[in-house]
Amino acid sequence: MIDRQQGPRPRPHLDTLPAHRPGRPDYAGSFVLSANENPYPPLPGVLETALAAAGGANRYPDMATGGLTAELARHFGVPGGHVVTGPGSVGVAQSLVLAMAGEGDEVVFAWRSFEAYPVLTRIGGAVPVPVPLTADGAHDLDAMLAAVTDRTRVVFVCNPNNPTGAALRRDELVRFLDAVPAQVLVVLDEAYLEFARDAEVPDGIDLYRDRPQVCVLRTFSKAYGLAGLRVGFAIAHEPVATALRKTAVPFGVSQLAQDAAVASLCAEDALLERVESLVGERARVTAALRAQGWTVAGSQANFVWLPLGGPSVDFAAACAEAGVLVRAFAGEGVRVSIGEARGNDAFLAAAEVFRKQI
Ligand SMILES: *Cc1c(COP(=O)(O)O)cnc(C)c1O
Repeated sequence: MIDRQQGPRPRPHLDTLPAHRPGRPDYAGSFVLSANENPYPPLPGVLETALAAAGGANRYPDMATGGLTAELARHFGVPGGHVVTGPGSVGVAQSLVLAMAGEGDEVVFAWRSFEAYPVLTRIGGAVPVPVPLTADGAHDLDAMLAAVTDRTRVVFVCNPNNPTGAALRRDELVRFLDAVPAQVLVVLDEAYLEFARDAEVPDGIDLYRDRPQVCVLRTFSKAYGLAGLRVGFAIAHEPVATALRKTAVPFGVSQLAQDAAVASLCAEDALLERVESLVGERARVTAALRAQGWTVAGSQANFVWLPLGGPSVDFAAACAEAGVLVRAFAGEGVRVSIGEARGNDAFLAAAEVFRKQI
């Protein structure tokens, strides 16, 4: 007879991961300000390029993503061998954890920060070491340094931080990098860097250049507006870059995504214009929320963070009722992506109604 206990057993690490993800909500008729997506369609010329590439969908993509890698290397002034692309920067981050950390190793990150960090760590069999943010939502670099042990293989630094929008400045980050043991890989996740306007927020690629322990993660999902095409990349020294290619899912970036990403890099003026308009909307939303009486920290990303605590879930429900989807973190706060002016207005109206009820 079949003994069910003897059947296939998933790795026990997976028991600690969420069993299912909520289905995609019904977006119809709502402003979607819950996933930090870009409200604008792909940049000029990108759709045409992508459509042309779609005609070749019977073929596998270029496994080495040669065209995109060369364009990224040129764009950022780094060796092509240091550029590793993947299916979103989350895909690259997964390759990173698999390449660097195994059973019993530790991965340090701030908390609350990007939800993927603990999940990717567990998938790799490693141990997540979350380090609480400071009271104002910033990375506590001293505490993170203190959390590094001889089991630590990777430290994720999310700059600017998702979901609080706080950003580290050059001096403090440099001091941290100088103090972290040389064998620990520091991953600077800069998914939102294009939106930072504080001149003291460093470009991680400058920090990577003479630091073999630094790896920078970037994505086409946010500023570039290609979240649906799944393309991101790492810039890392050897031997990390080579290891990343080994652990990547083969053919993980479609030709459509590769070509669209190249076309996006070539549309820089339009990109800067869109980012600037979102930065302007961020200032407008922040000021309007403060005028309504909310506490809102300044954000360096394409979202704002309301540290509401208890009422967070109710607030998000009230927004949804008013046709605006925002992201609640129960008991902590609400993250609201900056959208087009109409969506932001609808959110501000919902926030004002809620404010008057509490
Ligand atoms: C959105 C986001 C990413 C990028 O995700 P993709 O997989 O590239 O879409 C990476 N890191 C952080 C912190 C993010 O918020």
